[in-house]
Amino acid sequence: EQEALRCSGCGISLQSEDQGKPGYTPKQAFEREPIICQRCFRIKNYNESSSVTVEQDEFLRLLGQIGGKQALVIHIVDIFDFQGSVISGLQRFIGNNPVLLAVNKIDLLPKVTNWNKVRNWVQKEAKDAGLKVEDVVLCSAKQNSGFDRLLEAVDEYRGDRDVYVVGATNVGKSTLINRLIRDYSDLDQELTVSRYPGTTLDMVHIPLDDGKYIIDTPGIVYPSRYSELVSPQDLGVILPDKPMKPAVYQLNEGQTIFFGGFGRFDFIQGNRQSFTCFVSGRVPLHRTKLEKADELFANHAGELLNPPSKENIAKLPEWTRHEFRITKGNKCDLFISGLGWIKINNDQGAIVAVHVPKGIKVMVRPSII
Ligand code: GDP
Repeated sequence: EQEALRCSGCGISLQSEDQGKPGYTPKQAFEREPIICQRCFRIKNYNESSSVTVEQDEFLRLLGQIGGKQALVIHIVDIFDFQGSVISGLQRFIGNNPVLLAVNKIDLLPKVTNWNKVRNWVQKEAKDAGLKVEDVVLCSAKQNSGFDRLLEAVDEYRGDRDVYVVGATNVGKSTLINRLIRDYSDLDQELTVSRYPGTTLDMVHIPLDDGKYIIDTPGIVYPSRYSELVSPQDLGVILPDKPMKPAVYQLNEGQTIFFGGFGRFDFIQGNRQSFTCFVSGRVPLHRTKLEKADELFANHAGELLNPPSKENIAKLPEWTRHEFRITKGNKCDLFISGLGWIKINNDQGAIVAVHVPKGIKVMVRPSII
């Protein structure tokens, strides 16, 4: 009969099977009254939110509920995986509600970065993704920078609205929520809300001083990101933890760069030119001849080309090849979701290819740096 029980904090159906999913409640918590899920329990008792995740369909259903409300939406994205973490179609679901785009993890970009250029780039990419954003705030939860500006923007646009925070997994959403709780919340009030009778809530409502709420939505899982595919150990390899040091390669056509055993980049055709790799410093780069590359991977994946280990490579999908013809004068990035990008510095044109496990998003985009 546990299935019938709902959290008296957020309204979600309670379950005690999967800690990463909404509604998780340890068995012993069922003996307390009122019963609340672990996420609500943590917020209430420790002022701390934790990450839970949902699949895309469920997430879109949750988003749809925002469309009918007066809301300010904070969409948090990861600058290291912008196209992998932006929620395309967000606008369709949330209606005319204003969106603040919080671009997190900017501490990962190189120390010398033209932030105005990055901001303009974000604005343009957001527009191309169909988002109408009121404001773009560059921030780093890790360095605790940019948040003051974000809080200012929240004040500026919130008016009489609740604040919904949405984002993909691993973008830093819990870190941000925790900051908002500390700055805005009045946790002497109850988390419980039943202001919208008949609606399924299953989003955590954190009361604000003024009677409004911050609503923490579960993180959406996008399986097209490398970071969703690898083992926890390899996740620590591909996610940079300090500013990236761009690695510049002068290549002739017919040369390949391996990113450990995670993927490879082929320079197939074009004049000698430079390519800049923006990946985690823990991913070893290995230059070789294109004609030898298949054989090298077949014989040395998980050994010379590691990480991942042989064992972990076997658990990843087979590689597929994505070929791109870069036109003259088009300064662009070859973006690999969750792994990083290769900047093509050319002004002469090139044919290039990327090999990565099937399902990972690979695309050409205007260069960010
Ligand atoms: P959530 O899944 O969106 O709730 O994200 P978390 O707040 O749990 O953060 C996910 C991962 O990103 C953790 O490993 C964090 O340490 C890391 N992270 C969060 N914010 C930042 C940031 O500003 N910079 C960097 N470099 N890492 C961050």
